[in-house]
Amino acid sequence: MDVNEIMKNNSLVADMAQYKEVFWINPDSGKDAGIPFGMKDIEDAEARLARFAPYLAKAFPETACSGGIIESELAEIGRMKPVLEEMTGHFGGRLFIKLDSNLPVSGSIKARGGIYEVLKFAEKVAMDQGLLTWEDDYSILLEDRFKELFSRYSVAVGSTGNLGLSIGIISAKLGFKVTVHMSADARQWKKDLLRSKGVIVIEYPEDYQVAVAQGRKEAEGDPMCHFVDDEGSADLFLGYSVAAKRIISQFEANNITVDEDHPVFVYIPCGVGGAPGGVTFGLKEIFGENLHVFFAEPTHAPCMTLGLATGLHDGIACSDIGVDGMTDADGLAVGRASRLVGSIMETLLDGCYTIGDEKLYPFLAALADSENIFIEPSSCASFTGPALVAQAADYLAAKGLTDKMDNAAHILWATGGNMVPESEMKAYYERGKK
Ligand SMILES: *Cc1c(COP(=O)(O)O)cnc(C)c1O
Repeated sequence: MDVNEIMKNNSLVADMAQYKEVFWINPDSGKDAGIPFGMKDIEDAEARLARFAPYLAKAFPETACSGGIIESELAEIGRMKPVLEEMTGHFGGRLFIKLDSNLPVSGSIKARGGIYEVLKFAEKVAMDQGLLTWEDDYSILLEDRFKELFSRYSVAVGSTGNLGLSIGIISAKLGFKVTVHMSADARQWKKDLLRSKGVIVIEYPEDYQVAVAQGRKEAEGDPMCHFVDDEGSADLFLGYSVAAKRIISQFEANNITVDEDHPVFVYIPCGVGGAPGGVTFGLKEIFGENLHVFFAEPTHAPCMTLGLATGLHDGIACSDIGVDGMTDADGLAVGRASRLVGSIMETLLDGCYTIGDEKLYPFLAALADSENIFIEPSSCASFTGPALVAQAADYLAAKGLTDKMDNAAHILWATGGNMVPESEMKAYYERGKK
């Protein structure tokens, strides 16, 4: 790889190297490609989560009202729409927010994939021992004999924070020994909260990649340790994808139509790519080409945009173009894209864009003021998306959407927030008001 050559031939990459905001449209979106997963995999994951629902309803009483199904609301934010247009530019249609920031158990999108992967591991361990069958009421997993079984196994993960929260909380509840390797970006309160639940938290002064590598190293050579590999796990990916099945009825309830005349645009903040990638795979599998997905990344950590725009995926890192990975969007502070997800997004994703850190806080405050919804800074990375798409005249013309934008639904995927301590959230808000 000759980075200088890449920058000379690719002005987008050259802009990214200077921390400029960019908007990249994927020329290969919609092309045929061999994707290694299909609808059957999403259904399998959905069925597994349904089997675990009786367990979750008891283990986490806050999920009892939804029958042990960990799901979030899709809300129209009509008061925020004119505010956002004022801040970013006009866009037609309706504006929604998907509140994964409020997901029970761990308060971020990681409550989908992260919890799913650990549940799947627990199911396998229990079944291999002959203690559990598909027909059982899985709430028996709360019994001491299972805790004792799981305590002989361990789970390890590397994280910038939210994945660690999700994996740590569910693993500790089941009874696994669990170690979370936290990168320098991770907020103190996340480490404190995990330790209070008996999770071993190891801190590194380095970035996410180092934390993940340490987790992998710990698990290597220990047959009793399950490593949750955020850089390439199919289980994580498929756990996230179930969101798309569950959103079908939410579209109906909100009168959102997805067809040629009614485009739907989804904007998701992206770190390593697993969470937004899994959701995108599910959405495209179900709704097809009339649903358009864009990823949002910080200008200081645009690994997915870089991987896709160069076609190199995990073969290129932000540091290769001199970009430092230092961002307030801690959930997105990742320097190299997932080796699993990058190539799958090659034909599924519609595009990517980047945003400067200084814009995150004003969006956070505006959403709080207009809708009384509080989300974390990483979650706000997507907010420039609707205006960027509305202004992308060539893209809209190529897709035949120019005169259909008043029928559009724009969905900002809020990826985290409700576990942020109040004092911390107040500081974010006040920073946004300045
Ligand atoms: C993890 C995370 C993301 C992105 O997920 P990836 O799988 O890393 O791409 C987005 N927002 C928040 C708040 C997160 O914690």
